[in-house]
Amino acid sequence: MRKYYNDSKILLQVACDKCGRNMLVENGIVKEGIFSIDYKWGYFSDKDGETHSIDICEECYDKLINDNDIKITKKDETEII
Ligand SMILES: [Zn+2]
Repeated sequence: MRKYYNDSKILLQVACDKCGRNMLVENGIVKEGIFSIDYKWGYFSDKDGETHSIDICEECYDKLINDNDIKITKKDETEII
């Protein structure tokens, strides 16, 4: 769940959608590992026209992947900002 300043795009707070912990946000930037998804469901799904958004902290992400034996596709980035 994200909270923005007065309906602007200035990010104030992000809570993990699994454990509820508020993540560290400074100057509108999340300063820790976060797994964010904004997915727009397509025509052939039962959720056509819906966009689902999830923010998960790194600890919950690791637990979700490991506990559910989810196979991820990992690609190493050569340029890190
Ligand atoms: Zn969490």
